[in-house]
Amino acid sequence: MSEALLGGIEAGGTKFVCGVGRSPTEILRTRTIPTRGPDETLAEVLAFFADVSAQLGPISALGVASFGPVDLDPRSPAFGAIKTTPKAGWTGFNLKNTLAEGLGCPVAIDTDVTGSGLAEWAYGAGQGLDRLAYLTVGTGIGGALIADGRPLHRYSHPEMGHVSARRRADDIGFAGVCPFHGDCLEGLASGPAVVARYGKKLSEMPSDSPIWMILADYLAQLCLSIMLIAPPARIIIGGGVMSNPQLYPLIRQEILRQNNGYLDLLSDPAVVEAFVVPPGLKDEAGLIGALMMARDGR
Ligand code: ZN
Repeated sequence: MSEALLGGIEAGGTKFVCGVGRSPTEILRTRTIPTRGPDETLAEVLAFFADVSAQLGPISALGVASFGPVDLDPRSPAFGAIKTTPKAGWTGFNLKNTLAEGLGCPVAIDTDVTGSGLAEWAYGAGQGLDRLAYLTVGTGIGGALIADGRPLHRYSHPEMGHVSARRRADDIGFAGVCPFHGDCLEGLASGPAVVARYGKKLSEMPSDSPIWMILADYLAQLCLSIMLIAPPARIIIGGGVMSNPQLYPLIRQEILRQNNGYLDLLSDPAVVEAFVVPPGLKDEAGLIGALMMARDGR
């Protein structure tokens, strides 16, 4: 008799990474599908799971770590649907219901950031920690809080990338790129915000450019805000912008400077060094997190 099979999807704006495993880390099959409109994308996603089921047996539960915003309120008629998004065709599309009908199994859904945060807590840089914050800094800025292995939200997910930032004097002329707020954190410190300022990606910027300190300043402000509101034991920061590793020491330095001795924990350079860290898992964190959601039924 074969063991139950778990399905997982990391549903991103550019690709859907689908996988099937016996456990979150024992992954047997994966397929990466480019994200287009919902009908086209989902047809290919369902075909993958049908193929795998024909070979290995039925999928007992599916977890989805989705791009946002997504309706996570179980009381809402649109529970599991994508909320207002610039991605063509996706606004109002109910990802959870479509997959549940297509696969005939329970579907758990949460944000992609939460998926990565759960995976980091179980298998990555946050193992054994009761409170963890996971941030991703890339085309946007998103964050999740994980408490005792569960996301710390219920009716809505955090949108901590859209908090306000205190502007730097050397960055005052830049309006920011957030379509809603202009110069919120995401509007100032995401990958597109770098391109909007300089016409280049961060990885193409010279090491003496002011952009490094600008990003470190704003991202340290976000870390400090998280620490002041719901203090985690560690903040893991991943995403495309953070693939430039020189940002980590600059962010830590800025946290020390901005904290200015206020929180004891963030006054010790050795503590801050261990407090703000890169992810322990590579690209597979979102899929592993989705498989954890399938296993745990949430
Ligand atoms: Zn914003």
